[in-house]
Amino acid sequence: MSINGHKVINIMDKIADAMEENKLYLTELDAAIGDGDHGLNMSKGFQAVKEKLKEDEETNIGEILKKTGMTLVSNVGGASGPLYGTAFMKAGMEVNGKEEINIADFERMLKAALDGIKLRGKAERNDKTMIDAIEPALNAVSNAIRQELSPKDVLKAAADAANEGVAFTKEIVARKGRASYLGERSIGHQDPGATSSALIFDIIYKEL
Ligand code: ADP
Ligand code: MG
Repeated sequence: MSINGHKVINIMDKIADAMEENKLYLTELDAAIGDGDHGLNMSKGFQAVKEKLKEDEETNIGEILKKTGMTLVSNVGGASGPLYGTAFMKAGMEVNGKEEINIADFERMLKAALDGIKLRGKAERNDKTMIDAIEPALNAVSNAIRQELSPKDVLKAAADAANEGVAFTKEIVARKGRASYLGERSIGHQDPGATSSALIFDIIYKEL
């Protein structure tokens, strides 16, 4: 399996639609342990991405991801904007110049995205952030590739691991971001950023 720029743009559109559909849900999650804007941030950011990439004939996938990241950084006010923005920009740098990408590229992109988020936000796994969805997804991708699973099964493993990671965020105390102000009281609540990350993995799996 390999995918082209047109398909990547199509996936960004679908992510924008999913963020719009889940706006209230993400906002409610954030209202419980943050300031209640995560759904608004994500839908606003990805609508801007959708608008930016509309009728874009770009074939360099690195360039598409760079535009996506830069649009997120400049359109999202919350902490999630620069973090997701960095993730997409770093992923794009991994595949700059490529017009087709495969599952091995996806693993490298995901690793670069995760490293970028960690560097930018200074968070680690179990701090109750988006990292708790993304790191398990990356590990699942690496394992699935090693086991020579089909690309479809690799992407399924990523989505499943991300969703399990989201469920686990309910069990732990927030140590980064606004939710960390609540300390122990953040237990029992699911992290909004991990939830939006898992939604993105769900879309990637469904669309490919
Ligand atoms: P804000 O917290 O500024 O209101 P959002 O509500 O859009 O921004 O995003 C909150 C999400 O951002 C959290 O649920 C968490 O997943 C993620 N997040 C916050 N701080 C960090 C960090 N330092 N590293 C990684 N993710 C973070
Ligand atoms: Mg918020």
